[in-house]
Amino acid sequence: MKVPLADLRAQYRSLKAEIDAATVEVIESSCFIDGDMVDSFEIEVAHLCGAEYGVGVASGTDALVLSLVACGVGNGDEVITTPFTFGATTEAIALVGATPVYVDIDACTFNLDTNSIENKITSKTKALLPVDLFGQMADRTVLHDLAARYGLRVINDSAQAIGARQNDRPIGADGDTTTLSFYPTKNLGAYGDGGMVLTNDLTIAETLRSLRGHGQTSYGIHERIGYCSRLDSLQAAILKVKLRHLSDWNERRRANADLYNKLLGDVATKDSSGIVLPGYDRANYHIYHQYTVRHNRRNELQAFLKQHEVDSKIFYPMPMHLQTAYAYLGYGKGDLPEVEKVSDEVLSLPVHPELTVEQIEYVTSLIHKFVA
Ligand SMILES: *Cc1c(COP(=O)(O)O)cnc(C)c1O
Repeated sequence: MKVPLADLRAQYRSLKAEIDAATVEVIESSCFIDGDMVDSFEIEVAHLCGAEYGVGVASGTDALVLSLVACGVGNGDEVITTPFTFGATTEAIALVGATPVYVDIDACTFNLDTNSIENKITSKTKALLPVDLFGQMADRTVLHDLAARYGLRVINDSAQAIGARQNDRPIGADGDTTTLSFYPTKNLGAYGDGGMVLTNDLTIAETLRSLRGHGQTSYGIHERIGYCSRLDSLQAAILKVKLRHLSDWNERRRANADLYNKLLGDVATKDSSGIVLPGYDRANYHIYHQYTVRHNRRNELQAFLKQHEVDSKIFYPMPMHLQTAYAYLGYGKGDLPEVEKVSDEVLSLPVHPELTVEQIEYVTSLIHKFVA
């Protein structure tokens, strides 16, 4: 039995009539940039995520860059962040001229260890940039307490967490900005690149709108140096159709994760099996962008699954502080032991909404065989 990591074609087929109609409508209107389609999509996403304003941009990476600029983060500033994430998080900090400062992660939730933040705060620290990794929110209470006490900005990288909640508060409810990515394989994926910044601050929202359009405040009036970073109307139209199914898809991902937990529960409790299941903070409504197990013979497990036509992926094979691009920051092996250990052991299994019970049973039976 073949088990792919995602099945975007199956998802398209289930929505084909609606998506085809929505794209034709945009092409007929010939309004490809800005306009009603983008405006109404921004309002819908902001509402879903508990934020006042949504500003569509060209990608999740741009959402981070524009957030940092709008929050006044730049040359000489330090931004405290996690080393265990996709490269865009650190890259955005470096691109605006600021210095990423890493704290180690909590090996249970894979999110940054909020207890380690305070002793990294210096007079240069300007912002905290946590990531809601794999669909589970980082601890907002601790982050906001620290931000309030030290006068820091908070930018939440929620590229993997649209629809997640913590203590019933959605991702966009807190922080200066919250950023989303609509990369095709994200929980809400476009048919190309796209992203959005959420905020509850009108001044930040207006700055972001200006930044995404060359720093203009009205046509031909450039108040600042900006970017060319817009969300296409075609993508907005496709995403609007898909948004109606998001909570359903997130529920299915959660059900898939529950079934994995149930079927792997017995091996996970045996130390000799080496299998560690993903940890879950009960305050969180986790939307399982990834279902990520750990094993001390991870590469062998991945090869074994591959032999039996099951796809899996390593998110992420190397923490940011050990990457060549960031060698100038001066970190070395052993500086952040938890993330270094975890990145050698993680393996993400298929958890997408189109997965069947039979496929999950097949994957878990293979894992039972592997650890036996
Ligand atoms: C996908 C992702 C991004 C970047 O989003 P793009 O739309 O690909 O630019 C940033 N941060 C995290 C955590 C991501 O997963």
